[in-house]
Amino acid sequence: MLVSFPGDILMRMLKMLILPLIISSMISGLAQLDPMSSGRMGSRALCYYFTTTMLAAMLGIILVIAIHPGDPSIKKEIETDSEDKNVYTLDAFLDLIRNMFPENLLQACFQQVETTYRKAKAKPSFVRPDVNVTNMTVVENITQSFQERELAYKDGTNVLGLIIFCIAFGVICGQLGEEGEIMVNFFVILNDIIMRIVVLVMWYSPFGIMSLIIGKIMDIKDLAQTAQQLGLYMLTVITGLVIHAGLTLPLLFFVITKKNPLTFMKGMLQAWITALGTASSAATLPITFRCLEENNHIDKRVTRFVLPVGATVNMDGTALYEAVAAIFIAQMNGIELAAGQVIAVSLTATAASIGAASVPSAGLVTMLLVLSAVGLPTKDITMIVAVDWLLDRLRTSINVLGDAFGAGIVDHLSKAELEKIDAEHARIEMEM
Ligand code: ASP
Repeated sequence: MLVSFPGDILMRMLKMLILPLIISSMISGLAQLDPMSSGRMGSRALCYYFTTTMLAAMLGIILVIAIHPGDPSIKKEIETDSEDKNVYTLDAFLDLIRNMFPENLLQACFQQVETTYRKAKAKPSFVRPDVNVTNMTVVENITQSFQERELAYKDGTNVLGLIIFCIAFGVICGQLGEEGEIMVNFFVILNDIIMRIVVLVMWYSPFGIMSLIIGKIMDIKDLAQTAQQLGLYMLTVITGLVIHAGLTLPLLFFVITKKNPLTFMKGMLQAWITALGTASSAATLPITFRCLEENNHIDKRVTRFVLPVGATVNMDGTALYEAVAAIFIAQMNGIELAAGQVIAVSLTATAASIGAASVPSAGLVTMLLVLSAVGLPTKDITMIVAVDWLLDRLRTSINVLGDAFGAGIVDHLSKAELEKIDAEHARIEMEM
C-alpha cells in the first residue's frame, strides 16, 4: 500500500543500522572501560532490569485481578479454531542459554534464533507431540492470525549471542592497552559514523512513523467490534503501562538520581514516538542512543554498554502485558488461579519478556510459555491477537522508556568511577 511505503523505508533503514550499531557501540564502549567498572555497571543494570520487570509484571497482575476484564460469556463470540500449543518452561530456558552462544558468528547475524521447535524437527526421535515454538523471531504480519503468524517466521538476528561475543571482545580489547589501540579506535570511529547516519535517519523518521501508524489503522477491518469485545482487557493493559511509565519508573529514577524525571522523559520523546511507530525496541535503538546522549547527556560509555543489552532483555511493558493477558485468558475460561499459580505467572512473564526478541509481536509468541507454565489453554491466545497491533506499540514504547531510565540510573551511579577513569586518562596524557 502506498500510504505505508515511507514507513517501510524507515523500518528498513532502522533495521539496517541495528547490527553495526550494536557491535560498534558495545565493543567501543567496553574497550574504554576497565573490567571492574564494566562489571559494576553491568550488575547495576541487571539489578535494575530485574526489579523493574518484576514490578511491571506484579502491577499487571494486581490490575487484572482488580478490574477483572475476562468475562466467559464474551469468549464464545471471539473464539477461533486452533490447536492447542504447549511450550515447556525448561525448553524455553535452555533455548535462551543456547542462543547466548551461537555456533557461528556470521550465521548469528542473520540466522533465526534456535528454537525447541527446530530441534524437534531436526531430530524426530525427540519429538514430543506437544512440543512447540518459543523464543522465535517474528517479523511483520502483525494483524494476521496467530496461526498464520506462526508460518511467517523469518530469519532474524541472534542479538543475545552477538552481545555475549561483543562483551568478551570489548573487555579483552580494552585489556590489551596500547596493543589493542588500533582495534579500539576502529570501533570508536565506526560507532561515530553509524551515529551520524542515525542523525540522517532521524530527520526522515517523522514521515516514516506517520505512515506506519496510518497504514496500520487503515489495515484494521473491524476496529469497533474488536475494541468493544476486548475493550476492558485493553484498558487494563493500557492503565498498567501508564502507571508504570508515569509513576513507577519516574519515581525510581527520582529517588535514585534526584533528577527531574519529566525533563528526562521529554528528552526521550522522539525515541518514544519511534517505538510507537515501529513496535520494535531493536529498530528504535538508534534513536534511543541519540536521545540519551544528545538530549539527556548520558555518558557514551554507559549507553554503549547498557542500551544494546537493555533493548534485548529489559522489557517491562512486555512483562506487564503478558501477565495481564495470561490472567485475562484464565478469567475468560472461568478458571480461578491459586496464589502459587499467580506467582508462577509473574515469574514466567518476567522470563518470557527476557526471552522475547525486540521485534514486533515477539511478546505474543513467548506468551505461550506463560500460559503453559500455569496450564492455561494456549489456543486462546488467538483471542488477543486482534488487538495486538495496538498493544504491541504501546508496550514497546514502555520497553524503550524502561531502557532509557535504566541508562540514566546506571549513569548516575557510575559517575564517580567514570570521572576517575577520565582523570587517570588525563594524567597519562599529561605525562606523555
Ligand atoms: N515489540 C516488543 C519490543 O520490540 C516486544 C513485544 O512484542 O513485546 O520491544
